[in-house]
Amino acid sequence: MVINWYPGHMVKARREIQNSLKLVDIVIILLDARAPFSCRNRDLERMVGQKPLIMVLNKMDLADAGCTERYIEELAREGLQAVAVDAITGKGMSQVLKAIGQTYKPLADKMLAKGRRVRPARVMVAGVPNVGKSTFLNCLVGKKVAKTGAKPGVTRGKQWVRVREDIELMDTPGLMWPKIESEEQGLKLALLEVIGENAYHEDQVALYLVKILREKRPEVLKEKFRLADIEGTDEEILQAVGRKRGYLIKGGEVDFYKTCHMLLHDFRKGSLGRISLD
Ligand code: GDP
Repeated sequence: MVINWYPGHMVKARREIQNSLKLVDIVIILLDARAPFSCRNRDLERMVGQKPLIMVLNKMDLADAGCTERYIEELAREGLQAVAVDAITGKGMSQVLKAIGQTYKPLADKMLAKGRRVRPARVMVAGVPNVGKSTFLNCLVGKKVAKTGAKPGVTRGKQWVRVREDIELMDTPGLMWPKIESEEQGLKLALLEVIGENAYHEDQVALYLVKILREKRPEVLKEKFRLADIEGTDEEILQAVGRKRGYLIKGGEVDFYKTCHMLLHDFRKGSLGRISLD
């Protein structure tokens, strides 16, 4: 088993989400656009799915645009609405607001029909580690962070942030964890930094990345790393990358661990191009 990941406090995290759920009308589940299906945990989704869900594929700037479109269609076939965003630039955020408005409409109509005043939609954001929850919250709220204040007795310390006249956001996102069902899924999540670096070995994840590059983006290996050919084993390719990059140790041998580390770094910051994994 390459991935050795036992997130602590799962029971506590689950309970926290369950408590937060009681306070909201809509749940936004944030997924990494590069591998949205690998980030999912259907058990937790069933739990939060008592409320209307909006799936948001974040980091679209790092993902292959065609794949993102396909993933959104696939989610739609499951009956899930999905929107792609880049939480750093704010791309796609207007569609998120539109989706919230449309999702809340039937609930608001019900309140009106009962003769009640329509209050702002209460929304919480949940997702696996590092998927961009904080960045997304900040982006949605903008600089004009107007906390509406804790509501004693109702929110148990939860803060609500007014996004718009008709939308309030819970200021602490819910932590979910993926359900890892295969070694390959674990490797993808390691690549995306969803699981922490002490749960995997960088060389194994780097070797997996080389395999993906050979399959999906051989031109990256040929052009960016100037490899004349990409024959041989994944390990030989990594060695060649290290040599081209000049990552050498005494005696002229390739510094294998530095090569792995730098290749992962390049992938994560997007400098190998937009690559999707699912
Ligand atoms: P959280 O753990 O889910 O709250 O994730 P953070 O908001 O801390 O984000 C994790 C990392 O992803 C940070 O380095 C962010 O800058 C980065 N990040 C978040 N959203 C995006 C995005 O849309 N595009 C890119 N390229 N990076 C993002």
